Amino acid sequence: MNENVLLEEIQSCLDCKTCLDYCDTYKVTMDELKSPNGRLKIAEKVFNNQEITDEERIGLYTCTLCALCDIACPQEIKISEIIYASKVKLVEENKAPLEIHNKIIKGIIEKDNSVGGNPNERLNWLPENYKTNELFEKKDSDTLLYFGCMSSFRVKESATHPYEILKLAGYDFKILEKEPCCGEYVYSAGNVKVAKDIFKENIQLFKRLGIKNLIVTCGGCLYAFDKIYRKYFEDFNINVRHIIDVIYELEKSSKIKLKPLNRTITYHDPCRVGRKYKNGPLYSEPRELLEKCGLKVKVLSANPEETPCCGSGSGIRGVDSSICIKIGKELFNQIETTDIVSACPLCVFNFRYVNYKNQMDKESRYITDYIFESIKK
Ligand code: SF4
Ligand code: SF4
Repeated sequence: MNENVLLEEIQSCLDCKTCLDYCDTYKVTMDELKSPNGRLKIAEKVFNNQEITDEERIGLYTCTLCALCDIACPQEIKISEIIYASKVKLVEENKAPLEIHNKIIKGIIEKDNSVGGNPNERLNWLPENYKTNELFEKKDSDTLLYFGCMSSFRVKESATHPYEILKLAGYDFKILEKEPCCGEYVYSAGNVKVAKDIFKENIQLFKRLGIKNLIVTCGGCLYAFDKIYRKYFEDFNINVRHIIDVIYELEKSSKIKLKPLNRTITYHDPCRVGRKYKNGPLYSEPRELLEKCGLKVKVLSANPEETPCCGSGSGIRGVDSSICIKIGKELFNQIETTDIVSACPLCVFNFRYVNYKNQMDKESRYITDYIFESIKK
């Protein structure tokens, strides 16, 4: 969208403040600079080439880009896209991102991951019994199971269980010995130039390996490969699927059998698997699969599109961790069950962080934990 169109859209704002009730970063800070409406005003200054203050810059960079405000606005203003576009403009003018983003982006370039992990430890999630026979890139398959930084380093069972479930089902796939970062963090920070370089390298790698299907475990990777890569590279024609969609199909065709676990859990729809991704089956499939595991599934909103963000999207924890901690606490207070389940390792990691920081008693798990446990029962 060009800047005049963005400005026109911003100016169509009625100042009704409906969006404020939907924005968690506003609700936990009560700071208008950290609200959708306030951020639109900052973006307007950016597009009008006016200087913004450091507080206003932080206002833009504490947006999780969860897109919940977008569905609330009676004027249908694409608020989160406008906020994002203003970050891109600031980066182009060398006025952003923040120091923390530059530090993490440097880490991504040097270590191929966004979490400061030792690249030699990237495969630590791989079970010993599979290690000796794993062929990695040499395996003759056009399907790649891709884990991303969060599954590989931070929530390792969200790599181990998807891998083991596909192996148990006899699914044909390969994995990489040296997996690169998908680039979503860099893109979210507004640095499109560096992000595009990462996308290009990854596309070339996938082409070299003959990849036609990509299965991912992380919401950020899903959104990046299926939405952002295609936006910039029209010839990117790889079929991208979330692991849940694949497991759902395997269960339907009786390649895996689920046995009852008899527990009650709360399922959380990650923004980048749900609302932002806009793929209906990825609302129903996780619920159905969890129910087939014999679990009573509670949810955070009757309308899955309105499920609140976990509070960690778009690198906000590095900018102001207190906001994540407060959002998480609010979210936990709405949950009756001990277990909270997500289909994104970033949400799982953030829930664990929030639980620790708030000294609560919640158990945060990646969705395939239950599926694996149910298969093995
Ligand atoms: S809901 Fe839409 S119109 Fe109302 S204040 Fe927010 S952005 Fe403006
Ligand atoms: S995208 Fe999410 S965090 Fe950002 S302004 Fe909208 S509701 Fe708030």
